[in-house]
Amino acid sequence: MTQSPKGASIHIDGCSKFYGSFTALDNVSLQVQPGEFISFLGPSGSGKTTTLNLIAGFTDLSQGEIRMGDRPISNVPSHKRNIGVVFQHYALFPHMTVAKNVAYPLRQRGVARAECEKRVKEALAKVHLEAFAHRYPSELSGGQQQRVALARAMVFNPGVLLMDEPLGALDKKLREVLQLEIRRIHREMGSTFVYVTHDQEEALVLSDRIAIFNKGRIEQVGTGHELYQNPATLFVGQFIGESSVLRGSHEAAGDHTALMVSGQRVLAAGRPQGSGAQVILLRPEDVTIQAPGTGTREDRSNLLQGVVREAIYLGSAMKYEVALPDGTALLARSAPGERVFAIGEAAEIAFAPHSARLLTDDGSQG
Ligand code: ATP
Repeated sequence: MTQSPKGASIHIDGCSKFYGSFTALDNVSLQVQPGEFISFLGPSGSGKTTTLNLIAGFTDLSQGEIRMGDRPISNVPSHKRNIGVVFQHYALFPHMTVAKNVAYPLRQRGVARAECEKRVKEALAKVHLEAFAHRYPSELSGGQQQRVALARAMVFNPGVLLMDEPLGALDKKLREVLQLEIRRIHREMGSTFVYVTHDQEEALVLSDRIAIFNKGRIEQVGTGHELYQNPATLFVGQFIGESSVLRGSHEAAGDHTALMVSGQRVLAAGRPQGSGAQVILLRPEDVTIQAPGTGTREDRSNLLQGVVREAIYLGSAMKYEVALPDGTALLARSAPGERVFAIGEAAEIAFAPHSARLLTDDGSQG
């Protein structure tokens, strides 16, 4: 994690936002470290933008408190919060040149002309737009306009930079280029970055930590690795990365839990989580596909019989979807050089109990 005296910490304590009887944000708490890059990831309507707007001061809190550093900010107007903002469609001022757009926050803060010019130049250099200072926004591509918006948001060295889907309107290639630029700018600036996205890959590329939003709550906060390897909920496990979910009645089996899945017994390491229905979450790379009857149960490995429903060539691997007799789909990956299976072929699926993640069924369907 990048630590810098420039970045401000953000403390969100028990925050809720109600619109009439509708709860958009439900008692959310989150601590963001100084200089950290945190992403808010979650489906549409889960409360990401609402939280960002509360930090920015564009929306009033219904309940709770937000502090930047030690300072409660609820009564501090937006423009005095020392926060830079970039939105997906953050309109640049169309009648101003690029240089004037970027200079705007400095002029608002009464920065002297010579200093202003110097800082605008530096900010434009950071986003590789020095040569475009005298153009108007209408003379720029979408990607260039977002670079200007970024330069304008960072030119006054804010303690916190908030970005709401800033690359959402751009094509994939350009998005990837700008993601790397945003990472570099974050490292150079040392400010705290809060980034809203519904693109999990983007969140993984950019962030020190990711907060997973669902229905107005944060389900889990962690590094990409933590969320992928140890999801706290089925929703998180399915939202990050690819997975298969096995459902069935369960019973304790010593220090393991056994599930009856499609008439076959499956073991997962560990005891049931709580008293509700249990599911097993599997990552495709933990699942082996092999010819029927190949496996042994020596290491208590789980063996399930099914039929290949999809076989997809990915270049670096083959991806398979294998259907169990009751229709449950299981994803498996095999490395190049391994036996290739055809659609419709019978196949055996093998995985170890310790790679079967046992979670409470929260009804989420990936
Ligand atoms: P998206 O990815 O689509 O931007 P989001 O996670 O950012 O989604 P929010 O914009 O925070 O979601 O919205 C959370 C919920 O609050 C949504 O159900 C939305 O319809 C609702 N909401 C947001 N603003 C208002 C408002 N001004 N009045 C009523 N409801 C609102």
